[in-house]
Amino acid sequence: MTQIVPNHGIRRPLIDPFARAITYLRVSVTDRCDFRCVYCMSENMNFLPKADLLTLEELDRLCSAFVARGVRKLRLTGGEPLVRRGIMTLFASLSRHLASGDLEELTLTTNGSQLAKYAPMLADHGVRRVNVSLDTLDPVKFRAVTRWGELDKVLAGIDAAQQAGLRIKINAVALKGVNEDEIPSLITWAHGRGMELTLIEVMPLGDVGEGRLDQYLPLSMVRARLAERFTIEDIPYRTGGPARYVRLAETGGTLGFITPLTHNFCESCNRVRITCTGTLYMCLGQEDAADLRAPLRASESDNLLDAAIEDAIARKPKGHDFIIDRRHQRPAVGRHMSVTGG
Ligand code: SAM
Ligand code: SF4
Repeated sequence: MTQIVPNHGIRRPLIDPFARAITYLRVSVTDRCDFRCVYCMSENMNFLPKADLLTLEELDRLCSAFVARGVRKLRLTGGEPLVRRGIMTLFASLSRHLASGDLEELTLTTNGSQLAKYAPMLADHGVRRVNVSLDTLDPVKFRAVTRWGELDKVLAGIDAAQQAGLRIKINAVALKGVNEDEIPSLITWAHGRGMELTLIEVMPLGDVGEGRLDQYLPLSMVRARLAERFTIEDIPYRTGGPARYVRLAETGGTLGFITPLTHNFCESCNRVRITCTGTLYMCLGQEDAADLRAPLRASESDNLLDAAIEDAIARKPKGHDFIIDRRHQRPAVGRHMSVTGG
C-alpha cells in the first residue's frame, strides 16, 4: 500500500536556473479596464471572452499553489483589478494566507477609479499598501492620457485609501511632451501627502496605435533635470524589481525610477506573472509562457499544477531585451501590459 506522507510545513522554494528564488507573483485578474491609457491600450481593444477567464475560485487555487511554494508577496493587477466582478471575495479568501503567516503582503495596482468604494474593504482584508497609477494632476491632460478617466474620482479614491489607513505609492509613466514639465510638482504633491512616487519609462508592450518614440522619455534625462531642483541621495532600498530609489532632501520623500530600457534589472528578478486566463509568463519582456489553466482544470489535486509550475520556473530566462529606437518601433512583445499585468 502506498503510504501518503504529509508535507505540511515543508516548503520547496521555487528556484530558477540562475539561482533566483521566486517569491513574488503578480496576477492579472482581468484584461478589462474602465480607462484606455494611450501607452497601454488602443482605443478599440478586443477583450477576451469572459468564458476564457479563470474563475475567482481558480485564481485562488492558483495563487495558493504559489504561496505553498514560497511566494511571499502577491499583487493583483490587470487590466483594472477593481472592475472584476466579485473581486473582494478573492481578496477575502487570499487573506487567509496573511493570517497564517505564509504570505507577507497582499497588494494591488489600480488606476484608483474604484478605490473610494473599495478602500475600507481592502483594508479589512489585510491589504496595507496600494499602488495607484496617476500620470498627471491636470484634469484635461488626465483625460487625454487615460482617454476615459476622471481625475476627481481617482483623487477621491486616494483620499479614501489614506483614510482607510492604506499606504500609497503613486506610479507615473514619464511621457514626453505630456507630463515631463509636471514631474517636480507631482513629486511635491505626492511627498507632501506622505506617498512615495515612482516614475516609469514607457515599455514597448503591445500595439497601441502610436509610435513609441513619441512617448518615450528616458528617465536618465528626467533625473538630470530633477538634480537641478532637488538634492538627490541614492538609497540602498531594493525590492528585487526594476526600481531604483532615491531620497530627496527637500521633501524627505522617496522617489523610484523604473528604467527597463536604460538599465538592466534582471539579475535580481524574483517575480513571475500570470494572466487572467492562467498563462504564466516567466519574464515580462519575453514570449515564452506556460499554460497553467489546463493542469489546474485537469484535476482537483494540485499535483499536475505544481509540476507545471516547476517546469516553467526551470525555463525562466536570464533577462529581456527591450529596445526602442528609430529602427525598433514595433512592440518587443505583442501582448499589452493589461494582459500580462503591470
Ligand atoms: N489598471 C491598473 C493601473 O493602471 O494601475 C493596473 C494595470 S496597469 C497595466 C499597471 C501599470 O502599468 C500602470 O502603472 C501603468 O501605468 C503601467 N503601464 C501600462 N502600459 C505600460 C507601458 N507600455 N509602459 C510602461 N508602463 C505601462
Ligand atoms: Fe487601464 Fe491601467 Fe492600462 Fe490605464 S494602465 S488602460 S488604467 S490597465
